Amino acid sequence: MNSIMSLSPRVALCALALAVASASTPAHAEWVRRVTDGIMGTRITVELWSEDRTQADQAIDAVLDEMRHIDESMSTYKPTSEVSLVNAKAADGPMKISKELFDLLVQAKEYSVITEGAFDITYASVGYMYDFRKHVRPTEAQINKALPAVNYLHVLLDPKTQTVQFTQKGVRIDLGGIAKGYSVDCGIDVLKQHGITRAFVSAGGDSRIIGDRFGKPWVVGIRDPRKGEGEVIKRVPLVDAAISTSGDYERFFDEDGVRYHHIIDPHTGHSASKVRSATIIGPYAMRTDGLSKTAFVLGPEKAMEIYNRIDDIDAIIVRLDGSVIYSKGIQPDPAAAAPAPPTAAAPAN
Ligand code: ADP
Ligand code: MG
Repeated sequence: MNSIMSLSPRVALCALALAVASASTPAHAEWVRRVTDGIMGTRITVELWSEDRTQADQAIDAVLDEMRHIDESMSTYKPTSEVSLVNAKAADGPMKISKELFDLLVQAKEYSVITEGAFDITYASVGYMYDFRKHVRPTEAQINKALPAVNYLHVLLDPKTQTVQFTQKGVRIDLGGIAKGYSVDCGIDVLKQHGITRAFVSAGGDSRIIGDRFGKPWVVGIRDPRKGEGEVIKRVPLVDAAISTSGDYERFFDEDGVRYHHIIDPHTGHSASKVRSATIIGPYAMRTDGLSKTAFVLGPEKAMEIYNRIDDIDAIIVRLDGSVIYSKGIQPDPAAAAPAPPTAAAPAN
C-alpha cells in the first residue's frame, strides 16, 4: 500500500477545556443559524439542530470562543501570538511550544510531504512581504533574497522535547493554509461535546458537516470562480464530511494583466496560478484545507494524480480555461441528472 494512503488521523486536540452547558428548560426543536464576521479575518457560519434554544446558543458561543483562541495563538497578524513568537525566536535555538501548535506543525509537515512540497508553511518567508489588501508585493530582488528560507525541511521538530527550531535566519511560518480548516474541526468537536448531532460549521472556504438534515444531505455550492458569489458550478450533497475550496478570487489584486493572489508557489515565491479553483472533499476540514492549495502550485493534472492517490479525499478542479475535472471517486455520471438541492447550506466559497 502506498504510504500516502496510510496517514495518521487528524490530531485530536482542540485545546480549550470545554464546560458543557447543563440542560435548561426544554423548548421547541429548531434549526439555529449564526453568522459572525471578524474571527480569523473571515466569516464564520454555524448552523445546527437543537431541541433547546439556550443550549444551541451556548454551543455556538463555545465554538466561537474556540475559534478566537485559535486566532489568538496562530495569527501572524498578532505580534503576541505563539506563531509570531516562534517566527521571532526559533532560529536562535530549540523553542518549547504548546502541544496544540506542535501537533499542527507535525501535520503541516505531513501535508508538505504528501503534496511534494506544494503545501509549505515556510512560504511565509517570502509571503510576509505581500499585502493583497494594500496591493503590495515584493520586488524580484527581495524574492530572490528570501527564497532560500522557503523549505519545510528548515523546520525541525523534536517530539521528545516538544520544541521547534529553524535551521536558519529568515525562515518564517504561517498556518493560514490550515488554520481555518483546523478551527472548523475544533468547532465540530465542541458541538459534539455539547450533544449536537446535526450541524454545519464554516470558516471562509472551509466547511464541515455532521449528520444529515433528517434524511436529506446538506448541499454545499462550489462557487463559479469568475462569477458572483451566488453563482455555483456544482452543488455537492454531503453528510458527515468536510469541504474546502481555494480560489484565486479570494484575496488578490491585478496589475498589468497579472493576478497576484494569496497562494504562493514555494519554489518561485510568486502567486501560484495554475488553476482557478480547487475543491477537496474529505473527512476533516484541516485535511481538505491543507490539500486545496496544491492544485494552484502543481497544476491540475499533477495535483489530480496526487489527489487520486489519497484514499479518503475527492477533488474538483476548475482549470484556467474554465473546464472542470473530477477525481476518480466522483466522476459525474453523464446519464444521471445532477442531484437537485433539497436544502441549501452556505456556499463553500
Ligand atoms: P483561505 O485563507 O480563505 O482559507 P485558502 O484555504 O486558499 O484560503 O488558503 C490560502 C492561505 O494559505 C493563504 O492566505 C496563506 O496563508 C496560505 N498559503 C499560501 N500559499 C501557501 C503554500 N504554498 N503552502 C501553505 N500555505 C500557503
Ligand atoms: Mg482555507
